[in-house]
Amino acid sequence: MLNPVLAEIVTACRALVPRTLVDLERGDRPALVELMTPVAKAFATEAAQEAAGLAVQVHGGYGFLREYRVEQIARDGRITPIYEGTNGIQAATLAGRLVRQDGTLAAFRAEIGDALAAARSIDTAPLADALAAWETATAALLERSFPGAAAVPYLRLTGLTAFGAVWARLEAAAASSRLRAAATFVRRWMLPEATHLAALCCSPPLPDVPADVFEG
Ligand SMILES: Cc1cc2nc3c(=O)[nH]c(=O)nc-3n(C[C@H](O)[C@H](O)[C@H](O)COP(=O)(O)OP(=O)(O)OC[C@H]3O[C@@H](n4cnc5c(N)ncnc54)[C@H](O)[C@@H]3O)c2cc1C
Repeated sequence: MLNPVLAEIVTACRALVPRTLVDLERGDRPALVELMTPVAKAFATEAAQEAAGLAVQVHGGYGFLREYRVEQIARDGRITPIYEGTNGIQAATLAGRLVRQDGTLAAFRAEIGDALAAARSIDTAPLADALAAWETATAALLERSFPGAAAVPYLRLTGLTAFGAVWARLEAAAASSRLRAAATFVRRWMLPEATHLAALCCSPPLPDVPADVFEG
């Protein structure tokens, strides 16, 4: 199961990123493009870490050795959450500014709603639950003047919900059993993380660490 799932994680990220690019080029959904730019960048680059890390793991010791290409892929992939705007900065941009920008939240809701409607033939309850978790987290974030530690889980939650929407469309249209198997994995094993991420976003801000705590 693991190898097809790795490949399909990549497939869905390939759908998520160019979809945002197409929207950017067409210019007809600017608010969605604004919101999805940091989300697509961060979600896809974190997914690359996960996929490359698992690829190293399934190769065992050979996966770690420089002589084999998997190690190179993992090392090359590790830069992607750092450059083109670190994912931490992308998270702060989304949770601090973009959620308050005109039309962004409505555009995201509409995008996920369209996917739910287009995928009526499959079990969309996990995606609907992810969207509800995202709504809860968004409301909690809007009550704060500073997102703090909630920014990173909120970025992942938004990405995971968008990823789930891509998968819902793929599954509804899928002819191959391989795609359907991977879609089942995404629904049952990945989307439930949304509830956990929303709980982190709603958690009270962490206490400040005294500046001198690491001294001595
Ligand atoms: C292989 C490679 C190629 C590159 N190519 C280019 C290029 O072509 N053009 C170019 O312009 N640059 C390039 N860079 C530079 C790259 O864009 C920077 O490394 C990146 O922007 C991060 O900056 P930094 O390394 O100074 O890290 P820092 O800014 O010091 O960040 C370190 C960590 O602190 C976090 N952080 C920073 N500020 C805050 C904050 N206010 N609140 C919370 N967390 C924060 C960051 O998210 C990050 O996790 C390249 C770097 C590498 C390694």
